[in-house]
Amino acid sequence: MKVIRPWTFAEALAAKAADTEVVPVAGGTDLWVHWPQNLAARARTYLDLTAVGELRGLRFDEGELVIGAGATYWDVLRDPACVERFPLLAAAARQVGAVQIQTRGTWAGNIANGSPAADGVPVLMAYGAEVLLVSTRGERRVPLDELYTGYREMAAAPDELIRSIHVPLRSYDLERFEKVGARRAQTIAKVGAAVTVAGGTWCVVAVSMAPTVRRCPTLEELLSSGPAPVGPDDLLPAVDADVSPIDDIRSTAAYRRNVFARIVYAIADS
Ligand SMILES: Cc1cc2nc3c(=O)[nH]c(=O)nc-3n(C[C@H](O)[C@H](O)[C@H](O)COP(=O)(O)OP(=O)(O)OC[C@H]3O[C@@H](n4cnc5c(N)ncnc54)[C@H](O)[C@@H]3O)c2cc1C
Repeated sequence: MKVIRPWTFAEALAAKAADTEVVPVAGGTDLWVHWPQNLAARARTYLDLTAVGELRGLRFDEGELVIGAGATYWDVLRDPACVERFPLLAAAARQVGAVQIQTRGTWAGNIANGSPAADGVPVLMAYGAEVLLVSTRGERRVPLDELYTGYREMAAAPDELIRSIHVPLRSYDLERFEKVGARRAQTIAKVGAAVTVAGGTWCVVAVSMAPTVRRCPTLEELLSSGPAPVGPDDLLPAVDADVSPIDDIRSTAAYRRNVFARIVYAIADS
């Protein structure tokens, strides 16, 4: 195993440009889980980003919250302004693993890992977050809801790194994050939803309901301007149009479909 440990983001970008196969490491809470069994992973070169000070922490800046690629869930939880302005970020952060994971795991790592059951991604998506991707060639902002191209696949070039996540400061009529797991803590979502409503316009993000965390445009349209649903079953055609849950080790497609419709209906009816 070879490790490159840059001190600046410019050095990190140069290392990634020189060898696009190097694997960025933030908290390592996803990357190292399979380490004991994954012999091929030991032959790879890792780009340890933990010494890059520019990536740490979060700040409010010109109408947005800027979350550095090194910022952890704990950074959000210990920032009272962030907890107050973005209660869904705090709600998700509190439900990721336990304190050990919350203090090491990063929002950027959650995005790049691309799990359909992630907790950080849906709340960021519900807040309209954008991801700043940077390489030695330049930088670009990609809306998080356009970032994923497939199961654990991101529309990022091989030489790009996430530098920061940008969350617009808006006022909301309603903000909710619901996670259904095997237990209340230390659990991966069987199904979940992050929902925001601003000026009557709904944003509904589905968790563990498709190959990626994704928005539900048909549901959003129905809830924003359609007839009010009188029961969760009224939402099922829209759910079927937007997502395609699977049977897997954590749950069944039928359970996910029905519970997701009930979660969204309960939010709409609240
Ligand atoms: C016990 C345990 C419990 C967990 N519970 C939850 C949970 O409840 N909910 C949940 O969502 N997740 C959970 N996780 C998964 C994990 O903690 C999160 O996904 C976390 O956010 C990953 O962040 P990290 O910094 O550790 O990422 P890492 O493991 O360092 O990296 C993850 C991926 O991101 C890439 N990456 C990292 N930084 C960058 C960058 N700047 N640019 C481009 N790519 C980058 C890496 O190459 C890798 O592919 C759990 C993990 C463990 C071990």
